[in-house]
Amino acid sequence: MKNHKGKIDIICGSMFSGKTEELIRRLKRLDFAKKKYKLFKPIVDNRYDNKKVVSHNMNSVQATIISKSEDIYKHIKNENIIAIDEAQFLDEKLYEVCKKLIEDGIDIILAGLDMDYKGEPFGSMPKLLAISNDVKKMHAVCFDCGETANYTFRINNDTQQVLIGSKENYKALCKNCFFK
Ligand SMILES: [Zn+2]
Repeated sequence: MKNHKGKIDIICGSMFSGKTEELIRRLKRLDFAKKKYKLFKPIVDNRYDNKKVVSHNMNSVQATIISKSEDIYKHIKNENIIAIDEAQFLDEKLYEVCKKLIEDGIDIILAGLDMDYKGEPFGSMPKLLAISNDVKKMHAVCFDCGETANYTFRINNDTQQVLIGSKENYKALCKNCFFK
């Protein structure tokens, strides 16, 4: 197995597009297949429950909370697969960390926002998308018109890139409604 290289699969899209549901679905399949994996999430996201990744429909998987990308190395024991939720919130070293992990033969499943609330590429996501093996772009439904939505629109006037929240702060919009 020395020459085996890992791969990166990415689940991306706007808020309310079902990224976490899709990630949990894939992890449950790994459970059935009795494959060892570890799920990480950045400390910034404390929605619902700190030690679990919980989807909006309340499915959950235990997660290891990390404050920086390089913490991932410390927590890997004998897992062949690691998963990361909300990957856009991790620091820019995530790209190098992921490259090293796949070099070591570890497969990575990564979920995150591809764009921030301004419609700009978010964190390490664009670079990771470039070197990924497979990308699943999830779509939400536009809160305003019901079309397919790719954008996360911030309802309030806060201008920091990272502002945690759900429907009280954000809505999913299609391209037309987003740029209105
Ligand atoms: Zn719309």
